[in-house]
Amino acid sequence: MIQIWHPCTQMKDHEKYPLIKIKNAKGVYLYDFEGNSYIDGISSWWVNLFGHSNERLNRAISNQIASLEQVIFAGFTHERALELAKLLSEVVPDNLSRMFFAEIGSSAVEISLKMSFHYFQNIGQRKRKKFVSLKNGYHGETIGALSVSGEDLYKKAYKNILPKNIVSPSPDCYRCKFGYSRETCNTECFSDIEKILMSNSEKICAVIVEPLVQFAGGFKIYPAEYLVKLRNLTSELGIHLILDEIATGFGRTGKMFACEWANVKPDFMCLSKGITSGYLPLSVVLTTEEVYKAFYDDYITLKAFLHSHSYNGNAISSAVAVETLKIFKEENVLEKNKEKYKYMRSLIEDKFCELSHVGEIRHIGFISAVEIVENKKTKKPFNWKRRIGFNIYREALKRGALLRNLGDIIYFLPPYIIEPHQIEALVEAAHQSYLEVLNR
Ligand SMILES: *Cc1c(COP(=O)(O)O)cnc(C)c1O
Repeated sequence: MIQIWHPCTQMKDHEKYPLIKIKNAKGVYLYDFEGNSYIDGISSWWVNLFGHSNERLNRAISNQIASLEQVIFAGFTHERALELAKLLSEVVPDNLSRMFFAEIGSSAVEISLKMSFHYFQNIGQRKRKKFVSLKNGYHGETIGALSVSGEDLYKKAYKNILPKNIVSPSPDCYRCKFGYSRETCNTECFSDIEKILMSNSEKICAVIVEPLVQFAGGFKIYPAEYLVKLRNLTSELGIHLILDEIATGFGRTGKMFACEWANVKPDFMCLSKGITSGYLPLSVVLTTEEVYKAFYDDYITLKAFLHSHSYNGNAISSAVAVETLKIFKEENVLEKNKEKYKYMRSLIEDKFCELSHVGEIRHIGFISAVEIVENKKTKKPFNWKRRIGFNIYREALKRGALLRNLGDIIYFLPPYIIEPHQIEALVEAAHQSYLEVLNR
């Protein structure tokens, strides 16, 4: 009998806390076999946008299955892939005119790294072999993606087999080492990456960052100005800018893509997660005509981009991505979200702002994060072995809310279709769980 090994988990925990077996899901609710329901406060790992078992998305999939489920994507194409390219070109920065398909976020990141490196090889800038990323950054967990990760937790065990790339100190607005607050910030922290880029400029292919919000690194929100400076400097030095919008994309930060806050156009943009509203694996890499042209030739040679995956351009995934973009277009999603996330923010501020261990509450778009610390003044975290965040997550489950913690950060990232009374229930469950864990 094969036992299942679950992701991002210490399996020993499940000797004490059995896995929750989900029977079905509808809208923001997950239902288990014991008759419990849970509000999906984290959009099933940041992917779900319009609720579970959404009728419009369900229909798009069943219509697609009836005609074409999958076809080889070399030498062939299909209607849904073409439609997806057309709809994406209406919403992404207008310098991005070429799109490459993959299935998961990590492989989109791999593709962007390979393309950037290969581009420089093709145009004769052969010394460019390194990538720069930010501390606390997260870009997935395959070998290449891990090599640009700024999170030791996921990376350290593999450090000896990873390509050696450069991790720069990152902006950290809560614990700013330059002594500024969010209000007084002048992005002096940019000087860290500036020095790295200036002194290695001829060796670097690209800088890869999550624009504006470092998700897995603890929902660290940094100013748009930093991204503007980064774009200006990378352009000046002839270095690519890869924006990993895998988590920030599709309205999560309040704009369709986070780069819009800074009005920045990247050389590569990686998309996944919300692209199918959380239904099916699909990712894409968008790039410029200039990059594309460097691979263009008469024959398949070393110059061509030969990367491929078996399920490239899957028709069912494409169909649900097309429907996702149509929902954005037809249902005024970004505008309607504003009122909802403002309401969510105000409830969170009301309930959490005065609590004695709440260090910072951060919001952007439909993301709110509460960072819990032992000492509010010094911002000193709790000893991690106390598992404050994890215990709050466990308590919240008992109260009908899925709020999977990131260390001692509790975050709210619900599907956009959440209703005000469900927001109230979610925040209330989090508040009660906090009190249970920290006042006992
Ligand atoms: C989730 C994530 C990835 C990796 O995507 P997978 O589909 O899990 O491989 C990469 N970058 C960011 C910013 C992410 O949040």
